[in-house]
Amino acid sequence: MKARVKKDTCIGCGACTTIADQIFQIGDDGLAEVMNPTEKDEKIQEIPKEDQENVMDAAESCPTGAIEVIE
Ligand code: SF4
Repeated sequence: MKARVKKDTCIGCGACTTIADQIFQIGDDGLAEVMNPTEKDEKIQEIPKEDQENVMDAAESCPTGAIEVIE
C-alpha cells in the first residue's frame, strides 16, 4: 500500500498529522505531505504494514479527501 497527499486539495488542517504522525507532516508550504517519499517526484510513500490502519483512518478523516491511498 502506498499513499500521497494531493496538495491542491489539502487545506492544512493537521488531522492526518495527528492520526498518522509517523507518516504525514506539515511541509514548509503549510500543507501535508508524506515524510519519506519512496518515489520522490510523485511524493508517494510506501506504507509499512504496521502503519496502514492509521493511514486509512487519516484518509477517512481528511475533510477534503486529499489523502490518496494506492493499493
Ligand atoms: S487531513 Fe487532509 S486536509 Fe488536513 S492536513 Fe491532512 S491531507 Fe490536508
